[in-house]
Amino acid sequence: MTPPATVTPELVARLSRHVAASTDATVSTVEVFTGATLATLPCSTEHDVADAVAAARGPQAAWAATDPRERMAVFEKFHKLVLDNRETIADLIQAETGKARRYAFEDLIEPAITTAHYLKAAPRLLRPRKRKGMMPFAIQTTELRVPKGVVGIISPWNFPFALGISDSIPALMAGNAVVLKPDTQTALSPLFGVDLLYRAGLPDGLITVVIGDGPVVGGALVDAADYVGFTGSTRTGAEVGARATGRLIGCSLELGGKNPMVVLPDANIDLAVAGGVTSAFANTGQLCMHIERIYVHESVYDTFVGRFVAATGKLKVGAGYDYRSDVGSLISTRQRKAVAEHVDDARAKGATVHIGGTARDDIGPAFYEPTVLTDVTPDMLCHAQETFGPVVAIYPVRDDDEAVAMANDTPYGLNASVYGRDVDRAKAVGARLRAGTVNVNDGHAAAYASIDAPMGGMGSSGLGRRHGVEGLLKYTESQNLTVQRIQVIPPPKALPYSRYTAIMTRSLRLLHKLGVR
Ligand code: NAD
Repeated sequence: MTPPATVTPELVARLSRHVAASTDATVSTVEVFTGATLATLPCSTEHDVADAVAAARGPQAAWAATDPRERMAVFEKFHKLVLDNRETIADLIQAETGKARRYAFEDLIEPAITTAHYLKAAPRLLRPRKRKGMMPFAIQTTELRVPKGVVGIISPWNFPFALGISDSIPALMAGNAVVLKPDTQTALSPLFGVDLLYRAGLPDGLITVVIGDGPVVGGALVDAADYVGFTGSTRTGAEVGARATGRLIGCSLELGGKNPMVVLPDANIDLAVAGGVTSAFANTGQLCMHIERIYVHESVYDTFVGRFVAATGKLKVGAGYDYRSDVGSLISTRQRKAVAEHVDDARAKGATVHIGGTARDDIGPAFYEPTVLTDVTPDMLCHAQETFGPVVAIYPVRDDDEAVAMANDTPYGLNASVYGRDVDRAKAVGARLRAGTVNVNDGHAAAYASIDAPMGGMGSSGLGRRHGVEGLLKYTESQNLTVQRIQVIPPPKALPYSRYTAIMTRSLRLLHKLGVR
């Protein structure tokens, strides 16, 4: 197999111009399906990162001075360009991740959905808002939204286009500049997104990419930016959070998960099986919100396991730049080793492997079969640690209380799912789950795609949210701009303080009685 014709040396050269790099140092990426070299890209130093942040300050100040409604023209064009270029973007994503094309499509439409949402929401959310002044008429207060300045976005490899670009869009709309640090292996598709933003008319210098070793280049970005939006593992997120807090800058941390699904006794089993299989093996199980644990009421457990294993066996694992495969490759042989380690450990300690549990070297260097386990116990690595691969464990539960207790029994809290015909009961169970998103009668996608509401993690799954109001306003500082039209604080010189306190007390009583405050 060869990389698609769209990934040309000319395209790589054009995209490389968006990388801040002052030396001749380079890094190489591979075509994951084969392991062959895909692209050679410039590599940034720590100084390049600091320079990129400094260079963004001028363009950012000019951009922040524009009316948010004017800024939207760029994103209107960007939305169209993303959809028009979907095949090229899907090629790039597949080449650098090895995922099945249907998930490359999900990866690329996410920024289009996010852009469309904030095109409507951002001008409204960024508008100055009149707030109650301390004293009606005398004091007038307005809440303004001031951009943070230069935002650092650090993104992982699993959804490289979505997570690099989607989190940059609201930051830019809010009047910031962005310095983006993608994972090196998956830098091409976010670079293409940056190129589209400039083609859509984004003023020069508002988004720059830095590429290189995570702790070095990512660390330098945390040291220089005014705010950091980080997506990645819980371990790195904790380091980034500590480093950002040390500088007294804000950050949002979108981290790992060990996401549970609960199947209630009245669930439509076929629907639950279809949803569970999709969410367990979506993106080859390398999806922060994918399902790794399924708790099934004992009355339907045997039926569920039988149908789940049968449906898993029908999945087509394969390589190819078309829509024929259901499951693609893992990102690397390193990731495959980590996944195999979880399965081998479970098998050695007595788990039952119903299907899968083997590498597929016959397809490519990092393929692994979708794997279904039962009899998983707390001493096994895959019981509570994130596997981040196509591996799911199914457990029987006696009742709703046991399902909730087991689902909540990890430090994570990213996503959860509940299947049941009685939607009120399913919602009640869902509300007891410690997770930032809960899907009823779906595994993960419905809540994630509902961008009007926030998405993010509780516990070790993160801090802050993307999407919704917070997904935009986190890139701003609020400013309380207050005008004293008639002097009431401090009292005019001519008014003795004893008189002033009496008037003020009466006024406060009256205002409270009138419901003003
Ligand atoms: P990772 O933490 O290894 O890397 C993420 C990014 O951080 C990369 O760009 C990396 O180069 C950079 N980085 C590494 N060390 C750094 C440091 N010390 N300082 C600053 N930056 C550093 O994560 P990964 O393996 O690329 O991604 C997989 C993880 O991401 C999984 O745990 C997955 O659940 C999680 N994830 C979470 C979400 C979410 O929205 N919650 C979405 C996707 C992935």
